[in-house]
This record gives sequence, C-alpha cells and structure tokens, in this order.
Amino acid sequence: MTGSDGRRPFVAGNWKMHKTNAEAAEFLEAFLPAAAGRPDAEIFLCAPFTALRTAVELTETSAVRVAAQNMHEAPAGAFTGEVSAPMLAELRVAGVVLGHSERREHFGESDTALQRKVPAALEAGLVPILCVGETEAEREAGETDRKLRHQIRMDLAEVPAERLADVVIAYEPIWAIGTGKTASAEQAQEAIAFVRALMGDRDADAATRLRILYGGSVNAANAPELLALPDVDGALVGGASLDPVELASIVAAAPVGGA
Ligand code: PEP
Repeated sequence: MTGSDGRRPFVAGNWKMHKTNAEAAEFLEAFLPAAAGRPDAEIFLCAPFTALRTAVELTETSAVRVAAQNMHEAPAGAFTGEVSAPMLAELRVAGVVLGHSERREHFGESDTALQRKVPAALEAGLVPILCVGETEAEREAGETDRKLRHQIRMDLAEVPAERLADVVIAYEPIWAIGTGKTASAEQAQEAIAFVRALMGDRDADAATRLRILYGGSVNAANAPELLALPDVDGALVGGASLDPVELASIVAAAPVGGA
C-alpha cells in the first residue's frame, strides 16, 4: 500500500457562482490539455447549473468530470427553484457538492436534508462530495471533533455501509474558506485522520477506501505539503480553481495514487 493506502487522488475545483458558459469553455480550453497528464487522478469541476451542459459536453473526451454544487433530495416535486439528482444525472453530470459551508450558512442547508441528499445522490449515480468542518469559534473552544462527529453521523446516517466508500468527504475548516488562511499540515492531518476514524466506527473497509479531501485556501504554493499528508487524498479548491493554470498545478501536486 502507498502512504494513502492506494486511494486514487481526487481534486475538485469549486467555481461557486462564477463562470458563464463562455467563460467555462475558455477555462476548459486551457485546462484540459494540462489535466491530461494525470490519468491516475480523478478531477472534478463543480460548475454552476447554467454551465453544466457546456462543461459536460466539452469534457466528454477527457478524464475530467463535472459536478453540480447543490441538489434537492427529492427526485421531483413542487420545489420551485430546485434541481434534483435524476435531472443532473440526465445531463451526464458525475457528482454533486453537498453541505458546503456557504450553503449551510446562507441557504439553511441542514444536516437533516443532507441525510436524504447523500443517499439520493448515490442512488442517481452521482458522486456526493460532502463538506464538513468547524467554525473558528468552534476550533478555539476545542469543539472541532464534536462538530465533525455530529456532521458525519447525521449526514451519512442513511448511507448503507456498502456505499460509504463511494462518498467523497471534504474537510473544510470554515475559517480557512476564501480567507487565505490555510489549516496547518498538522491541523489538516489530525482532523482528516479523525474523520477517517469516525468512518471506521461504521465500517473498517470503507474507512480505508474512502477519499477525504482538504479544502480551505488551497493554492499551487501550499498544495504540495497538504496533498502529501498521509490521510489527505486530494483537495476541494475554491478561488484558485478559477484559473486553469493554477488548478492544473494543484492537480500536478497530488502524489501519484493507487488504482
Ligand atoms: C471552497 O469553496 O470549498 C473553498 C475551499 O474555497 P477556497 O479554496 O477559496 O478557500
């Protein structure tokens, strides 16, 4: 086994509410040739709903896959403004970010909703990228482990053990998102090893196979140190993913992984 137990590296760029269709196409023209050098890595671009079709069509002959940034837990219904997992799957979208701290904070995404969203994503064939993490106040109060335990237990409660390894978890300390403040290598490794141990309480095999990412002000300069940590299997990248050259450098920094 490698330092990461043979887990395939996973790097996801979260564009948030950035990039029109034209801008997405321009990004991909520059990014796809650069990303082609890492067939061993899984690379996801999390695009706004309006750019999904363009991104899927332009990445079809590449190894890069496209994810949405949110979805509703129901397959269809009277939920104005929402989009469901089957709708995303029909567009050949491959994954979806769930529980991002911006959605939890600004749009009231709750652990109760996530408990239904994660299995709904899996059922539709989407890779759920589930975000968890503590606020600065929670870290200072020594409550990081409690927060992570609560989110992991709640959000994955309805995922059967045999599907747990199909979820990708992103540990994103909220104080590090979009702030330029990155968790230290020790903080990132400690929190991610703790999340893996929590998963081990559910299923030892899943805990070994599941990919856990670090997110929070990752850039080309700090990626080599963060991505080399033994329990860190990749990164969820916000701001730095808007620049194709920067994101390609982050992908290149991921240690060559297993199958
Ligand atoms: C994110 O959007 O998940 C994120 C980590 O953002 P940033 O890299 O800008 O901190």
